[in-house]
Amino acid sequence: MLEDKNQERTSLAELGEFGLINHLTKHFKMYHSSTVKGVGDDAAVINASGKETVITTDLLVEGIHFDLSYMPLKHLGYKAVMVNLSDVYAMNANAEQITVSIAVSNRFPLEAIEELYAGIQLACDTYKVDLVGGDTTSSTKGILISVTAIGTANKEDIVYRDGAKPTDLIVVSGDLGGAYLGLQVLEREKQVFQVNPQNQPDLDKYTYIIERQLKPEARKDIPKLLEELEVKPTSMIDISDGLSSEIMHICTQSKTGCKIYEDKLPLDPQVISTSEEFNMDSTMIALSGGEDYELLFTVSIDDYDKIKGNPNLTVVGHITEKNEGMNLVTRANQEIELKAQGWNSFNKD
Ligand SMILES: [Mg+2]
Repeated sequence: MLEDKNQERTSLAELGEFGLINHLTKHFKMYHSSTVKGVGDDAAVINASGKETVITTDLLVEGIHFDLSYMPLKHLGYKAVMVNLSDVYAMNANAEQITVSIAVSNRFPLEAIEELYAGIQLACDTYKVDLVGGDTTSSTKGILISVTAIGTANKEDIVYRDGAKPTDLIVVSGDLGGAYLGLQVLEREKQVFQVNPQNQPDLDKYTYIIERQLKPEARKDIPKLLEELEVKPTSMIDISDGLSSEIMHICTQSKTGCKIYEDKLPLDPQVISTSEEFNMDSTMIALSGGEDYELLFTVSIDDYDKIKGNPNLTVVGHITEKNEGMNLVTRANQEIELKAQGWNSFNKD
């Protein structure tokens, strides 16, 4: 999929490091006045003008976090930015700048790196963030991409993980489990392709979940929506490793317990049908499938009327006293202790 043999190939060595950085970054627009100096000096200069600055970073490694046999490079660039912006929005902050560092082996020509940067640029333009720096170097094998995102918020607006209180409602944006199931479909098709390269996969009925895996969107809209609704979450986190492990982070840091209701979990019809096809339990997928990049937060029960019925938000449970533990209430009204089982542990077996 990746290496089109007829494509033009320009070796990275021809450009040199600074030539490459300049070539890749010269068409990026700057959206924020807080970006005083971007790419082109020893360091970027950012003026946060009295606000708190939030910083987050993620490293993605080929073969560990992504597989280029079904992940197009443009999507990889986009997703690498999304996973970081998602963390900024999870602080109830606005993302303003990113830096991008890559290490690539000589199996990638310039045209491949341009594809990667096309995805990064699309993310920057869609989410209005400024690329202000980074590094490029060579690797002996594969590709590594590290993105750092920088955002700002007023001190009183930042939401941490440790503010949840008993009786607070637990809310998620969007729906859950799609990205994990999209990955299962892509893995299956890869294996089919390896056995029979003539086979043309029919992926029409999986478009939503595959998009959730290959082109996730960070929920920039949710902090904005909450501001409009005049709701300040008491705690918040983004769902990168599955609802179960994320709510456990909130409960542990807030020193509380929780109840999550199985019948409240938001599932797309494609998640339900594909779980059945794979003989998997959709509740398990929603709780433990990762990479949905939705936001999970708690709000005071007094704010229920403000969020109720909003199509972007689902109340999935409530916070309890710590001694009640962290539990899933099943459809049969049984309580089962939640387990932190991120998508990584799924992949091990
Ligand atoms: Mg996070």
